[in-house]
Amino acid sequence: CGIVGYVGTKQAAPFLIEGLTKLEYRGYDSAGIAVFDGETINVEKTVGRLAALKEKLEGHVPVGCVGIGHTRWATHGRPSDRNSHPHTDCSGDFVVVHNGIIENYMSLKEQLIKKGHEFKSETDTEVIAHLLEELYTGDFEAAVREVLKRIDGSYSLVFMSKNDPDKLICTKKDNPLVIGLGDGENFIASDIPAIIARTRKTYIINDGEVAVVKKDSIWITNREGQPVTKKIFEVNWNA
Ligand code: GLU
Repeated sequence: CGIVGYVGTKQAAPFLIEGLTKLEYRGYDSAGIAVFDGETINVEKTVGRLAALKEKLEGHVPVGCVGIGHTRWATHGRPSDRNSHPHTDCSGDFVVVHNGIIENYMSLKEQLIKKGHEFKSETDTEVIAHLLEELYTGDFEAAVREVLKRIDGSYSLVFMSKNDPDKLICTKKDNPLVIGLGDGENFIASDIPAIIARTRKTYIINDGEVAVVKKDSIWITNREGQPVTKKIFEVNWNA
């Protein structure tokens, strides 16, 4: 229901929690974050309010400058720790947060199970992480594009990969997604209030666009992979 992402030189977790807090008004049943610590991507998630996540993180907030976060409004699979986002593939190398619904997740899940993938949740979202692992041949962005060809439904998505820890990849269809432009850092969110305290310069992402977000660059292409020139949308209202 709410999505955030951070890549920069500061700690990711404080922004992730702050951003999700700003999206609280949208309502949710679980929350989680994933942060790359230089070696692995650490996922912390729990059913309940952000207060429950904060409590869980007390004393061991994940360290690192790249991360993603999510508040969930369950559509497939009851609210539970396991069904909370972020979701990972079998190896834990690929991590994803998702708003929306993957309509064809059942058939994808069956195919992936036949190929040996073991699922940890009942969500539609988890198939995306496994599909990414299955389709990855060394190029993170190319693998994300292959995933997008195979999923039907509505989504805002942010992907992290242990193999490419300096970037986040995000995309959307029929769900909102914005990128906030910072100085040596960039932000991703499903809605402007999450980033407004950090920056007022944004790119509003359109359906089918894929953005590769690093701390000092944002590379946006359309569905066909051609570069898109975006205008900066300057937010002039207060959340
Ligand atoms: N369909 C996903 C789930 O049930 C995402 C729900 C959401 O948008 O929060 O986990």
